[in-house]
Amino acid sequence: MLLEGNTLLNRNYEDKKILCPMGMECKKIHACPNDYILYRKNFELLKSCPRCALSRYKLKQKDDNTIEEIEKHGPPMKVMWYLPIIPMMKCLFANPNDAKNLSWHEDERKCDDMYRHPADSIQWKKFDDEFPEFGKEPRNIRLGLSTNGMNSLVNMSTNHISWPVLLVIYNLPHGLCMK
Ligand SMILES: [Zn+2]
Repeated sequence: MLLEGNTLLNRNYEDKKILCPMGMECKKIHACPNDYILYRKNFELLKSCPRCALSRYKLKQKDDNTIEEIEKHGPPMKVMWYLPIIPMMKCLFANPNDAKNLSWHEDERKCDDMYRHPADSIQWKKFDDEFPEFGKEPRNIRLGLSTNGMNSLVNMSTNHISWPVLLVIYNLPHGLCMK
C-alpha cells in the first residue's frame, strides 16, 4: 500500500510508544453513529444521543428476541480518535531551542523580495491583515494540515483504515517545517 521505504507499524502499542513521548497521545471519544454529538462535556455521561435517540453502546439480541443494550462494558457504537495538539505545542515551548525556532520567522528571517519561507508569502501577510491580533504575536503557531487517500468506511468491507495526516508548523525555519 505504501511507497518503498515507508512502513506502517503492526500494532497500536508500537504507535503509542513513538507518539506518547512526543506529547502526541491519542484520546478516544465515543460518538453518535449519525455524527450528531460527541460524548464529552455535557454529554459525557449520556447513554443515548439526545438528537437521534440511538444508543451509545452496541445492542445485543436476547434469547426472547428482545434487544438489550450492552451498557456496562459493552463496546461503543462509534469512536472518534482525537489527537490533541496542545500537549505537543507545550513540549515545543518547553525546549529553549524549539521555542526560539518558533519565532524565527520574525526574529531572524532574511526579509527581501525573495520567497524562501511561508512567511514571505502573500497568504501569510493577508492572514496578518485579517487577524492583526494573531499576527502581532510571533509565537502564535501557524499550521498546515494535509492528508491523502482519506476514505470513510462507507464503501469498504473492513472496519479499520489508516491514512497519512501531515501537520506542518509554518513558523519553523527552512528544513525544520515538517513534523
Ligand atoms: Zn445521534
